[in-house]
Amino acid sequence: MALILDVFQPFSDNYGFLLHDQASGATATVDAGEAEPIAERARQKGWRLTDILITHHHSDHTAGAAALKSEFGARITGPTAEADKIGGVDNKVSNGDHVMVGDSRLDIIGVPGHTLGHIAYFDEKGLHLFCGDALFSLGCGRMFEGEPKSMWAGLERLRALPDDTKIYCGHEYTLANARFALSIDPDNAALQARAAEAGVLLATGGQTIPAVLGLEKAANPFLRADDPGLMARMGLAGAAPHEVFAALRRAKDSFKG
Ligand code: ZN
Ligand code: FE
Repeated sequence: MALILDVFQPFSDNYGFLLHDQASGATATVDAGEAEPIAERARQKGWRLTDILITHHHSDHTAGAAALKSEFGARITGPTAEADKIGGVDNKVSNGDHVMVGDSRLDIIGVPGHTLGHIAYFDEKGLHLFCGDALFSLGCGRMFEGEPKSMWAGLERLRALPDDTKIYCGHEYTLANARFALSIDPDNAALQARAAEAGVLLATGGQTIPAVLGLEKAANPFLRADDPGLMARMGLAGAAPHEVFAALRRAKDSFKG
């Protein structure tokens, strides 16, 4: 039986995700920035929270975890490398591991850079990817802790997933990301189309996720650091992809769009 997914916005621009394993009734939240909106959503659905899956240690992804754990007796899974910062982690995982939510399996993919221990959760059956602040639609997370080579390697791991993979990222940043991406890659038709679609979706009360990996591979400059055309446009023809990625990340950090 399938894993049912519920997407909501618990606060500000953060996304919330509940994963419900039909066979067992187990239910997971991906990240837990605030306890009450997540608890309320689970109650509305009639789902009992059994698992809290943390992508990285930032408080907008973790601050509600302890309260949810004590209210529901839920198990906290989180990155081994950040367990001390997160607190209360019962199940420590890293790249190559997997976690079960009831009978549903999620593979752990290491995506360091935004934070050093950042992980993503991948449901191979349903092709759902929960990537926190590592990868956004048309962008990627700010590189607070890591360095370009390992962050690019993590993004390459995500890029290697099937094109039909649906991307559920931690924040709604698509339009701001589109402005930067178009400044770098203005003639990219896939990017133009995705930017226009995002504008319509948000103007009509919708959301831009899930993003689809196959389209992101064509449109998101941070997944295209090894594209010869983009390299040339950055003035970095022949450079290593992680150097191009680093230049893109620096340019985005100072972009005033
Ligand atoms: Zn973060
Ligand atoms: Fe965040």
